[in-house]
Amino acid sequence: MKIFVVNAGSSSLKYQLIDMENEQVLCKGLCERIGVTGAISHKAADGRTYSAETAMPTHSEAFEAVVYAMTKSDAKVIDSFDEVSAIGHRIVQGGSIFKGSCLITPKALQDIDDLGALAPLHNPAHVLAIKACIKTFGEEKPQVAVFDTSFHQTMPSKAYMFALPYKYYEQYGVRKYGAHGTSHWFVSDRVAAIEGKDKKDLKIITCHLGNGCSITAIKDGVCIDTSMGFTPLDGFMMGTRTGTLDPSALTFIAEKENLSPADINRICNKESGVLGVSGVSNDNRDVAAAAEKGNERAQLAIDMQRYQILKFVGSYIAAMNGVDAIAFTGGIGENDAELREYVCENLAYIGAEMDKEKNKVRGEEIKISTDNSKVNIYIIPTNEELAIARDTLAIISE
Ligand code: AMP
Repeated sequence: MKIFVVNAGSSSLKYQLIDMENEQVLCKGLCERIGVTGAISHKAADGRTYSAETAMPTHSEAFEAVVYAMTKSDAKVIDSFDEVSAIGHRIVQGGSIFKGSCLITPKALQDIDDLGALAPLHNPAHVLAIKACIKTFGEEKPQVAVFDTSFHQTMPSKAYMFALPYKYYEQYGVRKYGAHGTSHWFVSDRVAAIEGKDKKDLKIITCHLGNGCSITAIKDGVCIDTSMGFTPLDGFMMGTRTGTLDPSALTFIAEKENLSPADINRICNKESGVLGVSGVSNDNRDVAAAAEKGNERAQLAIDMQRYQILKFVGSYIAAMNGVDAIAFTGGIGENDAELREYVCENLAYIGAEMDKEKNKVRGEEIKISTDNSKVNIYIIPTNEELAIARDTLAIISE
């Protein structure tokens, strides 16, 4: 059985075709500049590639290009899209409506569209992609929605509510929803599997540290708190995002510089974080290289981000009254040995002990704590596409 996994943005579309017999990726690719010009780059598992510039006025033409790449190009992997059993969509915002993945019915599609108010950059694009799939692949092809937010729906109200007047929650749904849920779910499942324990018996902290970053506390098998909030801006500083800060700093700057809410959104989402503080780059590798050469602001950005990550980990240890396992994932989490060492050294007070040799490993699933460590620490490369494919298969098998 083959599952087609789609991660659609307003002008781009990432995809993978996964064979669920062995969970192997058959091909993956990217359509870009949808609505402007259009280009596809496609790669089969055996290394064959196909790329083309082709008009993509809408997502429908992008999907047609994908079908050509998968079934007819020099890098084809199947004879016909009929071989594909279902389509799994990554959906950024499921609000309080979607507690888990679901078959995309007309009602579900309408709900995803309505939730666009909470994710204006993402949900409308997902809706376009789902409609384009119906057009390209027909109404009979099952489509499943897998939400970034649903893993976090188990948070208690004391964790997800903001201390704002209650009416804003009632009127507009202003609360913490979290993000990266599929990744936190996948990684925490892997931790339990490696430990050979029921997830319900473990207190786990998962650190998804990439371009976007979030940390989640998992107790009794479910998420009890997460660092991202109403939008993926909350938490701790990221490549270009602020993370948590005093909102009055923003109203102060807005008044001083006569800025609109849209300006503030842009500054906080695109011009802040590691880039904003260092003035060098949003990529931790560039910033680390600059710090190495003596750039003090680059060093400050690195120090701030590490400190904020440590504080979130510490707060979740307090929230769960302990921790059994901590897992690092994402581009930074999987590759930045110094960051992991910093976090671990500062958790010596709870008996965490890092195996420095094992910590040198990159991008591989591995336990990096010593056998004496009271907390097991892991690197677990995330695989959100596989998690989406698994859930899609589960939903269509119900
Ligand atoms: P992701 O969004 O998960 O693909 O992560 C992308 C980010 O990972 C990049 O922006 C880099 O900041 C970071 N990254 C990748 N490799 C390294 C590395 N060797 N050391 C530090 N950060 C890294």
